[in-house]
Amino acid sequence: MNDSALMAELSWPEFAEKVRQGATVFLPLGATEQHGPHMALGVDVILPTSVCERVARNIGGVVAPAVPYGYKSQPRSGGGESFPGTISLDAHTLSLVVRDVIRGLGHDGVRRVVVACGHFENMWPAIEGIDLALRELRRDGITDMQILRLEYWDFVRRETLDRLFPEGFPGTELEHASLLETSFMLLLRPDLVDMGKVPSDGPARVPAYDRYPQPSGFIPASGVLARAERAASEKGQWLLDDHVELVTQAVRQGFEL
Ligand code: ZN
Ligand code: MN
Repeated sequence: MNDSALMAELSWPEFAEKVRQGATVFLPLGATEQHGPHMALGVDVILPTSVCERVARNIGGVVAPAVPYGYKSQPRSGGGESFPGTISLDAHTLSLVVRDVIRGLGHDGVRRVVVACGHFENMWPAIEGIDLALRELRRDGITDMQILRLEYWDFVRRETLDRLFPEGFPGTELEHASLLETSFMLLLRPDLVDMGKVPSDGPARVPAYDRYPQPSGFIPASGVLARAERAASEKGQWLLDDHVELVTQAVRQGFEL
């Protein structure tokens, strides 16, 4: 039997067999979004998918294809919508995609789904999609679907953050295309990172409010919100180790596996 943890690499009988054995299915929610001049547009798809694949291997789960578009990039967490290549969904659209995928999985017999966000702005549309899916499934007579929703970057040890940021952690929002994501990409897809193009126009100094329309100069022109210069694949390994171990623990705990 094909042993891939990726649903897209399984045949339907192989997928059905895993579902019959009670496999947990992971649904990464990504984005197609600028990540500075030094990284590819698919960072928010690649990173959560990589974490989910490793966790799925640990627990005998399956990773569904990631949703490659996310909710609209916000200036204070993703640079905003004005960068070429940042292509986003309306919140309503994303929530309906999440609803439809979970509903389909539920009708196939899946009873445990982990919705793993790799893009900051996906959180609330994901929550809406989960709620709509559970409501529909209940109406269809499926009352035992369980769902966990998480952001992979929350699963990191305090000591790791202290090692990564001796001068203090700037917070996950501002870390867009910065040290964490760049280090993680250097480990997983170094072919998609060009450290020679890391900008030095950060960190962003944004106020504690949003303004519409976004004023010019609100964020660094490069789209990188904090600093990426000290990114290294070794640091990416620290992150990967924490994320995989702690998400595995969380899924076991959340689903009582
Ligand atoms: Zn990102
Ligand atoms: Mn993002």
